[in-house]
Amino acid sequence: MSAKITAIRGMNDLVPGQSSVWEQVEKTLVETAGSFGFSEIRTPVIEKTSLFSRAIGEVTDVVEKEMYTFEDRDGDLLSLRPEGTAGCVRACLEDGLIHNQEQRLWYRGPMFRHERPQKGRYRQFHQFGIEVFGLSGPDIDAEIIAFSAMLWKKLKLTDHVRLELNSLGSPEERARYRDSLVAFLEKYRSELDEDSQRRMYTNPLRVLDSKDARTGEILADAPALAEFFGTETRAHFDGLRELLDGLGISYVINDRLVRGLDYYNLTVFEWVTAALGSQGTVCGGGRYDGLVEQLGGQPTPAIGCAVGLERLVLLLEALNLVQETPAVDVMVCSMGEQPAREAQYLVNRLRFELPEVRFMLHCGGGKVKKQMSHADRVNARLALILGDTEVAGHSATVKILSSGEQQTVPESDLAAFIKQHI
Ligand code: ATP
Ligand code: MG
Repeated sequence: MSAKITAIRGMNDLVPGQSSVWEQVEKTLVETAGSFGFSEIRTPVIEKTSLFSRAIGEVTDVVEKEMYTFEDRDGDLLSLRPEGTAGCVRACLEDGLIHNQEQRLWYRGPMFRHERPQKGRYRQFHQFGIEVFGLSGPDIDAEIIAFSAMLWKKLKLTDHVRLELNSLGSPEERARYRDSLVAFLEKYRSELDEDSQRRMYTNPLRVLDSKDARTGEILADAPALAEFFGTETRAHFDGLRELLDGLGISYVINDRLVRGLDYYNLTVFEWVTAALGSQGTVCGGGRYDGLVEQLGGQPTPAIGCAVGLERLVLLLEALNLVQETPAVDVMVCSMGEQPAREAQYLVNRLRFELPEVRFMLHCGGGKVKKQMSHADRVNARLALILGDTEVAGHSATVKILSSGEQQTVPESDLAAFIKQHI
């Protein structure tokens, strides 16, 4: 036997048993996005590296350390997408979806970051995201947050997540704040953690994000970004808060919330759970009014957020909220060659009549006992059994597997019978 080839570290398979949870979660996400009037957009998983470095920022963890970047056979520098927003903006610009119009979009799919794999943090992970272009007011910010709140409600997670909210102000306000923050940090330079010492000049706002205890103490006395806000920023933030209050969506203001990608301004938010340790952020987002222009379009206000699907599934599992749905409703069995053929034809007719019912055809013959244990194994509710007698009588024997009760049902009544008993 040759040596087995294993998967890449941090990249997971999704096998039966897990896939039904994912299906439920994605169904909820897709339906909810539809109920808010969002349309789907699909973009490639590979883009030119320059798209991400320009959109996300050269001095971010994602671009500096986490991207899967390679030269293809033509010598072009490409990267596996680490997030969905850059590709979405690129596609919308290329397809003329942004100029002078409003767009409300959703996407889902795998993202790739070369991080240290651990629970809730993988190298291939999946996001479901939404992006809105062309709207600048706090009403759409509240609408997006209401969308995410609706997801938690549908998934019964409302009591297990909390909303953290902040405003990053305008780029000008942030630049002024940056100067004052750097001046403050310089006084404590040698006491800061290593990462923060490096970041205080390249990307000082990220220092606010530091998990280091001593850096945290120092930051307690740091100047606050909000002190630099002008009337417009304040009005936007107050407007959003008023809407959230009116919607009954509670939040905590976290003035250290800066987010890891450079493109955000004004509103930023995260939904955080205490149930997943340090990988507790299940959804993050914010406004990115400068990005479309930065990528070559006209100035366009924009806002979006992304949900981490692995973390969402882990959270549902941790809280025991996963409903196991059996993959099969009806197992179709037969005895003998001719009945086997008839069973195959019958099940295909029934699938047309009852598209919502899940039928499995037992294949490969064998004794009835073996076929029944197959039905048990897949947790079917009913077994249809065809033998020579049933074929001759244009009927099927139907066994209700929970009670063992069985009866012969004419073929013309089968669909109605099945519908009633599953
Ligand atoms: P974190 O602070 O946990 O690293 P992030 O700020 O890098 O998250 P975003 O870029 O905002 O994350 O991505 C949105 C969501 O995608 C996160 O809130 C999280 O749920 C999920 N996510 C991000 N990186 C990973 C990863 N490596 N593995 C699994 N999920 C991830
Ligand atoms: Mg990260």
